[in-house]
Amino acid sequence: MKEAGMEAARGQSASDNHVDGNALAGAFAELFTTDITVATTECAQCGCIGPVACLVVYADAPGYVARCQECGGVVLKLVRTPETARIDLRGTVTLTMRLPDM
Ligand SMILES: [Zn+2]
Repeated sequence: MKEAGMEAARGQSASDNHVDGNALAGAFAELFTTDITVATTECAQCGCIGPVACLVVYADAPGYVARCQECGGVVLKLVRTPETARIDLRGTVTLTMRLPDM
């Protein structure tokens, strides 16, 4: 995923092989018209509510794995193939996005 690599570089962490949630911006841009990084998630494991941009993202997996910044639980996964995009939100109680002004 060339695009994933470019996004990952933008949010690169100096301490580990993960990046922050800003790395998800490009991958979700083709799926949602709003910026996913400013959406908030509620972690199903610990209840932490925070912006997607603050998730801990591992972008070098077959897809993206985003973990909670508080408990480390998997909040969401995104796997992209040439034909499909599969989003696994089992680790998320809610995903809240601000709607564009109409
Ligand atoms: Zn959590």
